[in-house]
Amino acid sequence: MTARSSSLPPYCPNPRCRYHTEPSRDWPWKRAGFFTRLAAPQRIQRFQCRHCRRHFSTQSFSTTYWLKRPELLVPVLHRLLGCSGFRQIAREFDLSPQTVLGLSARLGRHCLLFHARYRPRGPILEPLALDSFQSFEWSQYLPTLYHLVAGRSSHFCYGFTDSECRRSGRMTAAQKRRRAILEAGLGRPDPRSIEREVASLLHLVAPEPQMMELHTDEHQDYPRALRRLRHLTIEHHTISSRAARTSRNPLFEVNLLDLLLRHGGSHHKRETIAFAKRRQSAIERLAIFLVWRNWMKSFSERRRDASPAMRLGLADHRLPAAEVLAERLVPSRVALPPRWQPYYWREVRTRYLGRPRRPHRRVFAA
Ligand SMILES: [Zn+2]
Repeated sequence: MTARSSSLPPYCPNPRCRYHTEPSRDWPWKRAGFFTRLAAPQRIQRFQCRHCRRHFSTQSFSTTYWLKRPELLVPVLHRLLGCSGFRQIAREFDLSPQTVLGLSARLGRHCLLFHARYRPRGPILEPLALDSFQSFEWSQYLPTLYHLVAGRSSHFCYGFTDSECRRSGRMTAAQKRRRAILEAGLGRPDPRSIEREVASLLHLVAPEPQMMELHTDEHQDYPRALRRLRHLTIEHHTISSRAARTSRNPLFEVNLLDLLLRHGGSHHKRETIAFAKRRQSAIERLAIFLVWRNWMKSFSERRRDASPAMRLGLADHRLPAAEVLAERLVPSRVALPPRWQPYYWREVRTRYLGRPRRPHRRVFAA
Protein backbone atom coordinates (compact mmCIF):
# COMPACT_ATOMS: atom_id res chain seq x y z
CA MET A 1 0.00 0.00 0.00
CA THR A 2 1.50 3.29 -1.02
CA ALA A 3 0.36 6.86 -1.16
CA ARG A 4 -0.20 8.10 -4.68
CA SER A 5 2.55 10.59 -5.29
CA SER A 6 2.12 11.45 -8.94
CA SER A 7 -0.34 14.08 -10.09
CA LEU A 8 -1.28 11.94 -13.09
CA PRO A 9 -4.83 10.56 -12.91
CA PRO A 10 -4.76 6.86 -11.89
CA TYR A 11 -8.12 5.85 -13.46
CA CYS A 12 -11.24 7.36 -15.01
CA PRO A 13 -13.61 8.54 -12.23
CA ASN A 14 -16.72 7.64 -14.22
CA PRO A 15 -18.00 4.34 -12.75
CA ARG A 16 -19.59 3.46 -16.10
CA CYS A 17 -16.37 3.93 -18.08
CA ARG A 18 -14.28 0.86 -18.90
CA TYR A 19 -11.19 2.70 -17.65
CA HIS A 20 -12.73 3.05 -14.17
CA THR A 21 -11.98 -0.40 -12.81
CA GLU A 22 -9.46 -1.55 -15.39
CA PRO A 23 -7.09 1.36 -15.85
CA SER A 24 -4.39 0.57 -18.33
CA ARG A 25 -1.44 2.27 -19.95
CA ASP A 26 -3.41 2.96 -23.10
CA TRP A 27 -6.19 4.84 -21.25
CA PRO A 28 -6.71 7.96 -23.39
CA TRP A 29 -7.01 11.17 -21.34
CA LYS A 30 -5.94 14.74 -21.85
CA ARG A 31 -5.29 17.82 -19.74
CA ALA A 32 -8.20 20.22 -19.92
CA GLY A 33 -7.20 23.49 -18.24
CA PHE A 34 -7.37 24.52 -14.61
CA PHE A 35 -9.80 25.82 -12.06
CA THR A 36 -9.00 27.95 -9.06
CA ARG A 37 -10.27 27.73 -5.53
CA LEU A 38 -9.73 29.54 -2.24
CA ALA A 39 -7.86 26.77 -0.39
CA ALA A 40 -4.25 25.91 -1.25
CA PRO A 41 -3.18 24.68 -3.74
CA GLN A 42 -5.34 27.23 -5.49
CA ARG A 43 -4.78 26.08 -9.06
CA ILE A 44 -6.26 22.64 -9.75
CA GLN A 45 -5.46 20.71 -12.92
CA ARG A 46 -8.46 19.47 -14.87
CA PHE A 47 -8.56 16.46 -17.18
CA GLN A 48 -10.88 14.82 -19.65
CA CYS A 49 -11.29 11.12 -20.39
CA ARG A 50 -11.19 10.73 -24.16
CA HIS A 51 -13.12 7.49 -23.95
CA CYS A 52 -16.24 8.63 -22.03
CA ARG A 53 -15.65 12.42 -22.25
CA ARG A 54 -16.03 12.90 -18.48
CA HIS A 55 -14.21 15.89 -17.02
CA PHE A 56 -12.44 15.55 -13.69
CA SER A 57 -9.51 17.02 -11.79
CA THR A 58 -6.74 16.04 -9.41
CA GLN A 59 -9.27 16.79 -6.63
CA SER A 60 -11.45 13.90 -7.87
CA PHE A 61 -8.87 11.54 -6.33
CA SER A 62 -8.43 13.38 -3.06
CA THR A 63 -10.23 12.73 0.24
CA THR A 64 -10.68 16.51 0.50
CA TYR A 65 -12.84 16.87 -2.67
CA TRP A 66 -15.38 19.73 -2.34
CA LEU A 67 -14.07 20.81 1.07
CA LYS A 68 -13.70 24.50 1.72
CA ARG A 69 -11.17 23.81 4.44
CA PRO A 70 -9.25 20.69 3.37
CA GLU A 71 -6.63 21.25 6.08
CA LEU A 72 -9.18 20.26 8.77
CA LEU A 73 -9.59 16.63 7.79
CA VAL A 74 -6.51 15.30 9.64
CA PRO A 75 -6.95 17.32 12.88
CA VAL A 76 -10.67 16.44 13.02
CA LEU A 77 -9.77 12.76 12.66
CA HIS A 78 -7.52 13.04 15.71
CA ARG A 79 -10.10 14.99 17.72
CA LEU A 80 -12.78 12.38 16.99
CA LEU A 81 -10.47 9.72 18.41
CA GLY A 82 -9.45 11.89 21.35
CA CYS A 83 -12.81 12.08 23.02
CA SER A 84 -14.02 15.46 21.74
CA GLY A 85 -17.72 15.96 21.07
CA PHE A 86 -18.81 17.59 17.78
CA ARG A 87 -19.46 20.88 19.57
CA GLN A 88 -16.02 21.08 21.16
CA ILE A 89 -14.37 20.40 17.79
CA ALA A 90 -16.61 23.00 16.14
CA ARG A 91 -15.58 25.64 18.69
CA GLU A 92 -11.88 24.92 18.35
CA PHE A 93 -11.88 25.33 14.56
CA ASP A 94 -14.61 27.96 14.37
CA LEU A 95 -17.02 25.75 12.43
CA SER A 96 -20.67 24.90 12.84
CA PRO A 97 -21.37 21.55 14.56
CA GLN A 98 -23.11 20.47 11.34
CA THR A 99 -19.83 20.90 9.44
CA VAL A 100 -18.05 18.68 11.96
CA LEU A 101 -20.84 16.14 11.60
CA GLY A 102 -20.25 16.20 7.83
CA LEU A 103 -16.49 15.74 8.26
CA SER A 104 -17.05 12.86 10.67
CA ALA A 105 -19.37 11.19 8.14
CA ARG A 106 -16.83 11.68 5.36
CA LEU A 107 -14.00 10.27 7.49
CA GLY A 108 -16.15 7.38 8.69
CA ARG A 109 -17.24 6.38 5.22
CA HIS A 110 -13.67 6.63 3.96
CA CYS A 111 -12.47 4.44 6.85
CA LEU A 112 -15.17 1.86 6.13
CA LEU A 113 -13.87 1.57 2.56
CA PHE A 114 -10.28 1.61 3.81
CA HIS A 115 -10.97 -1.30 6.14
CA ALA A 116 -12.85 -3.22 3.43
CA ARG A 117 -10.06 -2.57 0.91
CA TYR A 118 -7.07 -3.50 3.07
CA ARG A 119 -8.41 -6.06 5.57
CA PRO A 120 -6.76 -9.49 5.34
CA ARG A 121 -8.06 -11.96 2.77
CA GLY A 122 -8.21 -15.71 3.15
CA PRO A 123 -8.78 -17.81 6.26
CA ILE A 124 -8.20 -16.31 9.71
CA LEU A 125 -5.38 -18.21 11.34
CA GLU A 126 -5.56 -16.87 14.90
CA PRO A 127 -8.17 -17.48 17.62
CA LEU A 128 -10.85 -14.78 17.79
CA ALA A 129 -12.54 -13.01 20.69
CA LEU A 130 -16.06 -11.66 20.13
CA ASP A 131 -18.11 -9.32 22.29
CA SER A 132 -21.09 -6.98 22.07
CA PHE A 133 -20.41 -3.43 23.18
CA GLN A 134 -23.41 -1.65 24.66
CA SER A 135 -24.30 1.97 24.02
CA PHE A 136 -27.46 3.79 22.99
CA GLU A 137 -28.71 6.28 20.40
CA TRP A 138 -30.89 9.31 21.09
CA SER A 139 -32.17 8.11 24.48
CA GLN A 140 -31.64 5.27 26.95
CA TYR A 141 -34.83 3.78 25.51
CA LEU A 142 -32.93 2.90 22.35
CA PRO A 143 -29.99 0.71 23.44
CA THR A 144 -27.57 -0.38 20.75
CA LEU A 145 -25.10 -3.23 20.65
CA TYR A 146 -22.00 -3.13 18.49
CA HIS A 147 -20.69 -6.65 17.89
CA LEU A 148 -16.91 -6.64 17.54
CA VAL A 149 -14.44 -9.39 16.75
CA ALA A 150 -10.69 -9.17 17.43
CA GLY A 151 -7.71 -11.46 16.77
CA ARG A 152 -6.27 -12.86 19.97
CA SER A 153 -2.63 -12.60 18.91
CA SER A 154 -2.67 -9.63 16.52
CA HIS A 155 -5.39 -7.57 18.30
CA PHE A 156 -6.60 -6.71 14.77
CA CYS A 157 -10.31 -5.85 14.82
CA TYR A 158 -11.74 -7.74 11.83
CA GLY A 159 -15.11 -6.02 11.75
CA PHE A 160 -18.36 -5.08 13.41
CA THR A 161 -22.12 -5.14 12.99
CA ASP A 162 -24.82 -3.52 15.12
CA SER A 163 -28.13 -4.46 16.76
CA GLU A 164 -30.96 -2.35 18.06
CA CYS A 165 -32.17 -3.74 21.40
CA ARG A 166 -35.10 -3.34 23.69
CA ARG A 167 -34.45 -1.43 26.88
CA SER A 168 -34.25 -3.96 29.71
CA GLY A 169 -32.89 -4.16 33.22
CA ARG A 170 -34.33 -2.42 36.23
CA MET A 171 -36.96 0.21 35.39
CA THR A 172 -39.44 2.20 37.44
CA ALA A 173 -43.16 1.86 36.72
CA ALA A 174 -43.05 5.25 34.93
CA GLN A 175 -40.14 4.12 32.75
CA LYS A 176 -42.00 0.94 31.80
CA ARG A 177 -45.03 3.01 30.82
CA ARG A 178 -42.85 5.30 28.74
CA ARG A 179 -41.28 2.31 27.01
CA ALA A 180 -44.73 0.89 26.22
CA ILE A 181 -45.85 4.22 24.70
CA LEU A 182 -42.69 4.50 22.58
CA GLU A 183 -42.93 0.91 21.39
CA ALA A 184 -46.58 1.35 20.46
CA GLY A 185 -45.62 4.27 18.22
CA LEU A 186 -42.22 3.20 16.89
CA GLY A 187 -42.34 -0.59 16.98
CA ARG A 188 -40.00 -2.97 18.76
CA PRO A 189 -36.55 -4.06 17.67
CA ASP A 190 -36.26 -7.57 16.27
CA PRO A 191 -35.63 -9.92 19.24
CA ARG A 192 -33.48 -12.11 16.95
CA SER A 193 -31.21 -9.23 16.01
CA ILE A 194 -28.20 -10.26 18.13
CA GLU A 195 -28.30 -13.79 16.77
CA ARG A 196 -28.64 -12.54 13.20
CA GLU A 197 -26.02 -9.81 13.42
CA VAL A 198 -23.38 -11.92 15.17
CA ALA A 199 -23.81 -14.55 12.44
CA SER A 200 -23.58 -11.82 9.84
CA LEU A 201 -20.35 -10.48 11.39
CA LEU A 202 -18.63 -13.87 11.40
CA HIS A 203 -19.81 -14.52 7.86
CA LEU A 204 -18.35 -11.21 6.81
CA VAL A 205 -14.92 -11.86 8.37
CA ALA A 206 -14.81 -15.53 7.31
CA PRO A 207 -16.86 -15.98 4.12
CA GLU A 208 -15.15 -19.23 3.08
CA PRO A 209 -15.25 -22.60 4.91
CA GLN A 210 -12.59 -22.80 7.65
CA MET A 211 -11.88 -23.99 11.19
CA MET A 212 -12.16 -21.24 13.79
CA GLU A 213 -11.42 -20.94 17.50
CA LEU A 214 -13.87 -18.44 18.99
CA HIS A 215 -14.06 -17.04 22.52
CA THR A 216 -17.16 -15.26 23.82
CA ASP A 217 -19.03 -14.73 27.07
CA GLU A 218 -22.04 -16.89 27.92
CA HIS A 219 -24.65 -14.81 26.11
CA GLN A 220 -27.43 -17.21 25.10
CA ASP A 221 -27.78 -15.81 21.57
CA TYR A 222 -24.20 -16.60 20.51
CA PRO A 223 -24.61 -20.41 20.15
CA ARG A 224 -27.77 -19.77 18.12
CA ALA A 225 -25.81 -17.39 15.90
CA LEU A 226 -23.09 -19.98 15.34
CA ARG A 227 -25.66 -22.59 14.28
CA ARG A 228 -26.55 -20.30 11.38
CA LEU A 229 -22.98 -20.56 10.03
CA ARG A 230 -22.98 -23.94 8.37
CA HIS A 231 -19.85 -23.23 6.35
CA LEU A 232 -17.65 -22.73 9.45
CA THR A 233 -16.33 -25.35 11.85
CA ILE A 234 -16.24 -23.39 15.09
CA GLU A 235 -14.60 -24.43 18.32
CA HIS A 236 -16.58 -22.24 20.72
CA HIS A 237 -15.19 -21.44 24.18
CA THR A 238 -17.21 -19.41 26.67
CA ILE A 239 -16.28 -17.61 29.85
CA SER A 240 -18.52 -15.89 32.38
CA SER A 241 -18.79 -12.15 31.87
CA ARG A 242 -18.20 -11.87 35.63
CA ALA A 243 -14.69 -13.38 35.32
CA ALA A 244 -11.84 -10.97 36.14
CA ARG A 245 -11.04 -8.83 33.07
CA THR A 246 -7.28 -9.27 33.21
CA SER A 247 -4.89 -10.01 30.36
CA ARG A 248 -5.31 -13.72 31.12
CA ASN A 249 -9.04 -13.55 30.37
CA PRO A 250 -9.61 -15.14 26.91
CA LEU A 251 -11.73 -12.11 26.00
CA PHE A 252 -8.92 -9.71 26.90
CA GLU A 253 -8.36 -8.54 23.31
CA VAL A 254 -11.98 -7.63 22.71
CA ASN A 255 -12.46 -6.23 26.25
CA LEU A 256 -9.50 -3.97 25.56
CA LEU A 257 -11.15 -2.86 22.34
CA ASP A 258 -14.34 -1.98 24.26
CA LEU A 259 -12.28 -0.07 26.78
CA LEU A 260 -10.41 1.93 24.13
CA LEU A 261 -13.65 2.67 22.34
CA ARG A 262 -15.23 4.06 25.51
CA HIS A 263 -12.04 5.87 26.47
CA GLY A 264 -11.54 7.61 23.12
CA GLY A 265 -15.15 8.27 22.11
CA SER A 266 -17.09 10.91 24.05
CA HIS A 267 -20.33 9.52 22.61
CA HIS A 268 -19.91 6.17 24.40
CA LYS A 269 -19.10 7.50 27.88
CA ARG A 270 -21.56 6.66 30.59
CA GLU A 271 -23.61 9.54 32.02
CA THR A 272 -22.57 11.90 29.23
CA ILE A 273 -24.45 14.51 27.26
CA ALA A 274 -22.28 13.77 24.20
CA PHE A 275 -24.05 10.46 23.45
CA ALA A 276 -24.76 9.49 19.85
CA LYS A 277 -27.95 11.02 18.51
CA ARG A 278 -27.94 8.58 15.64
CA ARG A 279 -26.61 5.07 15.25
CA GLN A 280 -25.47 6.01 11.72
CA SER A 281 -23.08 8.58 13.13
CA ALA A 282 -21.81 6.21 15.85
CA ILE A 283 -21.13 3.61 13.13
CA GLU A 284 -19.08 6.13 11.17
CA ARG A 285 -17.03 6.92 14.28
CA LEU A 286 -16.62 3.20 14.91
CA ALA A 287 -15.14 2.79 11.42
CA ILE A 288 -12.65 5.59 12.17
CA PHE A 289 -11.79 3.92 15.47
CA LEU A 290 -11.27 0.59 13.69
CA VAL A 291 -8.78 2.03 11.20
CA TRP A 292 -6.92 3.86 13.97
CA ARG A 293 -6.80 0.74 16.14
CA ASN A 294 -5.64 -1.53 13.32
CA TRP A 295 -3.31 0.66 11.28
CA MET A 296 -2.27 3.74 13.25
CA LYS A 297 -1.95 2.71 16.89
CA SER A 298 0.96 0.82 18.45
CA PHE A 299 0.28 -2.43 20.19
CA SER A 300 1.79 -0.78 23.26
CA GLU A 301 1.81 3.03 23.17
CA ARG A 302 4.55 3.14 25.78
CA ARG A 303 6.90 1.03 23.64
CA ARG A 304 5.63 2.57 20.36
CA ASP A 305 5.85 -0.83 18.70
CA ALA A 306 4.00 -2.49 15.80
CA SER A 307 0.33 -1.94 14.98
CA PRO A 308 -2.08 -4.89 14.71
CA ALA A 309 -1.88 -4.59 10.88
CA MET A 310 1.93 -4.90 11.09
CA ARG A 311 1.55 -7.99 13.28
CA LEU A 312 -0.55 -9.53 10.50
CA GLY A 313 2.04 -8.55 7.89
CA LEU A 314 -0.33 -6.11 6.15
CA ALA A 315 1.89 -3.03 6.66
CA ASP A 316 5.54 -2.34 7.42
CA HIS A 317 5.00 0.82 9.49
CA ARG A 318 2.33 2.54 11.55
CA LEU A 319 0.31 4.73 9.21
CA PRO A 320 0.06 8.43 9.97
CA ALA A 321 -3.39 9.96 9.43
CA ALA A 322 -2.19 11.69 6.26
CA GLU A 323 -1.34 8.31 4.75
CA VAL A 324 -4.71 6.81 5.67
CA LEU A 325 -6.28 9.82 3.93
CA ALA A 326 -3.83 10.00 1.03
CA GLU A 327 -6.04 8.43 -1.58
CA ARG A 328 -9.76 8.80 -2.01
CA LEU A 329 -11.54 5.45 -2.08
CA VAL A 330 -14.79 4.99 -3.98
CA PRO A 331 -17.40 2.24 -3.48
CA SER A 332 -17.36 1.32 -7.18
CA ARG A 333 -13.72 0.22 -6.83
CA VAL A 334 -13.84 -1.42 -3.37
CA ALA A 335 -15.63 -4.70 -2.63
CA LEU A 336 -17.77 -3.57 0.31
CA PRO A 337 -19.52 -6.55 1.98
CA PRO A 338 -23.34 -6.38 1.55
CA ARG A 339 -23.86 -5.96 5.31
CA TRP A 340 -21.79 -2.74 5.24
CA GLN A 341 -23.54 -1.20 2.22
CA PRO A 342 -26.25 0.50 4.39
CA TYR A 343 -23.47 1.85 6.64
CA TYR A 344 -21.72 3.40 3.67
CA TRP A 345 -24.90 4.77 2.06
CA ARG A 346 -26.17 6.20 5.37
CA GLU A 347 -29.31 4.07 5.48
CA VAL A 348 -29.27 3.31 9.21
CA ARG A 349 -32.51 4.64 10.70
CA THR A 350 -32.89 5.94 14.24
CA ARG A 351 -36.46 5.22 15.30
CA TYR A 352 -37.23 8.72 16.61
CA LEU A 353 -35.59 10.50 13.71
CA GLY A 354 -35.97 8.52 10.50
CA ARG A 355 -33.20 8.30 7.94
CA PRO A 356 -30.03 10.39 8.17
CA ARG A 357 -29.12 12.84 5.47
CA ARG A 358 -28.23 10.97 2.30
CA PRO A 359 -24.79 11.25 0.75
CA HIS A 360 -24.41 12.39 -2.83
CA ARG A 361 -25.19 9.38 -4.97
CA ARG A 362 -23.09 10.77 -7.75
CA VAL A 363 -19.72 9.49 -6.75
CA PHE A 364 -17.45 11.86 -8.58
CA ALA A 365 -17.48 15.56 -9.23
CA ALA A 366 -16.85 16.74 -12.75
ZN1 LIG B 1 -13.78 7.53 -18.87
